Amino acid sequence: MKNRLKLMFAKLNIFRSLKLRIFLLLVIVGVIPSMFVRYAVLQSYEERAVEVRSSDVQTQYKILADHLITYGYLNDTSSEVINAELEQISNLYDGRVIIIDKNFNIIKDTYGISEGKTIISQEVMECFQGKTISNYDNKNHYIEITTPITVTIIDPENDPEDGLEEKTMVEGVMLTSLSTDTIQATIDIMNKQAVVIQVIMFVLLVALSFLLSSVLVKPFERVTNAIAEVKDGFNTEQISVPDYLETEHIITAFNAMLGRMKAIDESRQEFVSNVSHELKTPLTSMKVLADSLNSQEDVPVELYKEFMQDIADEIDRENKIINDLLSLVKYDKTHAELNIEPVDLNDLIELILKRLRPIAKKRDIDVIYESAREVTAEVDEVKLTLAISNLVENAIKYGEDHGYVRVSLDADHQYFTILVEDNGMGIPEESFEHIYERFYRVDKSHSREIGGTGLGLSITRNVILLHRGFIQVESELGVGTTFTVKIPLNFVGK
Ligand code: ADP
Repeated sequence: MKNRLKLMFAKLNIFRSLKLRIFLLLVIVGVIPSMFVRYAVLQSYEERAVEVRSSDVQTQYKILADHLITYGYLNDTSSEVINAELEQISNLYDGRVIIIDKNFNIIKDTYGISEGKTIISQEVMECFQGKTISNYDNKNHYIEITTPITVTIIDPENDPEDGLEEKTMVEGVMLTSLSTDTIQATIDIMNKQAVVIQVIMFVLLVALSFLLSSVLVKPFERVTNAIAEVKDGFNTEQISVPDYLETEHIITAFNAMLGRMKAIDESRQEFVSNVSHELKTPLTSMKVLADSLNSQEDVPVELYKEFMQDIADEIDRENKIINDLLSLVKYDKTHAELNIEPVDLNDLIELILKRLRPIAKKRDIDVIYESAREVTAEVDEVKLTLAISNLVENAIKYGEDHGYVRVSLDADHQYFTILVEDNGMGIPEESFEHIYERFYRVDKSHSREIGGTGLGLSITRNVILLHRGFIQVESELGVGTTFTVKIPLNFVGK
């Protein structure tokens, strides 16, 4: 069932094609109006033709009605002249003529079937009041015309001083029907011709629509090709398809993405070369130490021991770099998984400081902790411990002998804030934006001397960003440095 549905959608996929949609749109827009036009033209032709025919015929019927009076046909239907005239007219119009006298009796029917019968219909009644009525039956294709047969007399009741007044009296009614088959035949011919023209137009339209739809989607194909070239590595430069505003927008977005990918690629390459360089430095030192021992004869044991200690220190350093690198990769803000739980931050900081105090003590640095309140926050304990440790370690490393490192904790209803402050050497302002970069060190040799890898602040920043927080630095050369970390108390999920 599922497969069948999938198949159906795959087939329907063709309807998602822009080319097909443009094609169908053009065809529909071309065909529908022409069908309307054909219908409207034929319809109005029919109306006009029927109108002309009935008004022509009505004039003739009026003349005939006068003849009927002249020949006294209403009283005596034997007049051959009139009968011949009636016959001729009904033949001419392929219709029927019925003459009705004052008493509603049918005195003549050219079909000869209703003579002697009485007819009282709405039209006849109205016609006796002097109205001429014309009706068109478009289903059966005939026009029905009811004409009054009138005489005009001089009104005897009229005052002779006012002049003589004429009076029209309806003496009878002529009920006629005439076929419109000839009109219909003309319409049929016109319709056939219109259909032929329409079919030709349709074929031309299909061809034109096919051509146009292909031309209109061409720029999109060009976009696909340009992107494919970049993908396949034939082109590494920014691409351009300026045909439409839409393609330009797509390309602008693509170029921006390309730029970002290039930047990522460059930073990856730089990272790899930095990593190799950093990893090679301790190895080179070890090689030098080992070579110098090997090249000497009868090396005293003390020198051996001293060099071996140096080699062991270099191995520790190598180890630290590798550990930092692993943390950095592990806490990459796009891949890391956080193990969030409520943590008492006072306890966490106390523990960090307890671990680092012995190191500070070696240089007589006083590590002070100030907590404004009890703070419990939703954080990843292990990762945050590492981030804060790095800041405090730095404060000690770059702090002044006999100086101090002050760590303080505070919180409002949304964030907790940790300040790590020292009165050490400080950071030059131009380095503020670089200190979080991997392997960046303000003073390379000094940092290396004191065991820095240049990765600590990168790791710290990654961890803080993972917690949706931010880090800021304030520093003055020779005066000291303060790092401020602000993180939401409640973890804001992805
Ligand atoms: P490192 O392992 O070299 O300490 P970090 O990434 O932790 O690397 O720090 C980057 C650089 O920022 C350091 O090399 C140092 O120059 C500078 N820095 C960091 N913290 C401090 C501080 N508290 N005082 C002065 N300089 C600092």
